[in-house]
Amino acid sequence: MAEQLARLGKRVTVVELLDQVLPQLDPEMAAPLAAELRRNGIGLILGDGVERFDRSASAARSDGAAESLTVALKSGANVEAGLVILSIGVRPESGLAREAGLELGSRGHIVVDDFQRTSDPDIYAAGDVCETRDLVTGGRTSIPLGGPANRQGRTVADHIFLGDKARPYPGSLGTAIVRVFNLSAGITGWNAKRLAAEGIEFESVVVNATQHAGYFPGATPVILKLLWSPTDGRVLGAQAFGRDGVDKRLDVIATAIRGRLTIDDLAHLEFSYAPPFGSAKDVVNIAGFAAGNIRDGLLKPVNSLSDAAGQQVIDVRPPGASAKLPVPGAVNIPLGQLRGRLDEIDASRPVFTICQVGKTSYFAARILANHGFDARSILGGAVHQVG
Ligand SMILES: Cc1cc2nc3c(=O)[nH]c(=O)nc-3n(C[C@H](O)[C@H](O)[C@H](O)COP(=O)(O)OP(=O)(O)OC[C@H]3O[C@@H](n4cnc5c(N)ncnc54)[C@H](O)[C@@H]3O)c2cc1C
Repeated sequence: MAEQLARLGKRVTVVELLDQVLPQLDPEMAAPLAAELRRNGIGLILGDGVERFDRSASAARSDGAAESLTVALKSGANVEAGLVILSIGVRPESGLAREAGLELGSRGHIVVDDFQRTSDPDIYAAGDVCETRDLVTGGRTSIPLGGPANRQGRTVADHIFLGDKARPYPGSLGTAIVRVFNLSAGITGWNAKRLAAEGIEFESVVVNATQHAGYFPGATPVILKLLWSPTDGRVLGAQAFGRDGVDKRLDVIATAIRGRLTIDDLAHLEFSYAPPFGSAKDVVNIAGFAAGNIRDGLLKPVNSLSDAAGQQVIDVRPPGASAKLPVPGAVNIPLGQLRGRLDEIDASRPVFTICQVGKTSYFAARILANHGFDARSILGGAVHQVG
């Protein structure tokens, strides 16, 4: 809504109670979207909530409207508005079902079986109002999205017409995507916040690679975060953002989760490749490789630059790239010089490597580890961590 109103030339402010936009994403994956909103003139207020709305006749409004709303925020700040749109969550409208005595879940969604039958087998329910199976954990969830709603509708019709021959609705993943001006961002499966909150063990990696061959005109990066189970390597979720090609990667990983594929499967998925369309190693393959490197102990990942605060951080980019997007506190030793300058690094302390997008820092960390250093690579590189 913010984007479309801005395209119409309106002044738009987004107020968000959390300290990030799009809470479906992990904070570091949402941060570039906040920057994109601001870059496009959206006033973005994070970490502040709406306290109340005051309606007032206003002669002072710049657009000449007779009335305006003052949106009073919890912080004490005020935002003047001609129109307020609330997007503050989704609740099932299940009063009719409650009155009919149907079983509801803990958050008011209608409980259904595999064929979308409610607790009264002559009444079916489909869509946002009902619970469904979570394809990641097998538990119950509710996923208010158009795809699941429509396919559940198909299951209802199948069961009505085919009876026992109908196929059950398998469950939902919550695969979703949004355009934010020139970026797209999306998610499938679970994010790190949710996995951590539920106490589900997971590993994650962030990779950055172009959506098609880098030498072919129009190449732009896709930043992909992959989450998997350390127990069996099964993919638990993914998030991605970029200017192009985000949908393809999310859809591939959504299919992988549905098929219960592992990080090793991702490493060897075979994609259609010619330079305008992809790369010989697709972003999804690279995520699989990187995940395998972590699993096999080849890569000690560091999720956030803040985890390296006060430590020795080596920026292994060429000096030009390093000067253009500096990493605070890092010492620049370009990869090509690293083997000859090992005596400049304190072997008694951990050493953190960083580069532009996270690949060269992995090479540097491998060189250092092979020389006996306790080396760790900062995921996603400077573009992701300070860009
Ligand atoms: C602004 C917006 C953008 C969205 N964009 C996307 C998107 O890009 N991708 C995506 O996957 N999903 C998107 N969604 C979500 C998607 O629209 C919903 O998941 C989907 O419409 C759910 O379908 P449904 O049939 O369960 O409910 P609905 O589409 O809400 O249909 C329920 C219908 O039941 C009617 N109704 C309610 N009570 C009664 C009653 N007592 N008697 C008779 N009728 C009744 C309602 O009026 C309504 O028409 C978006 C939602 C919104 C609000």
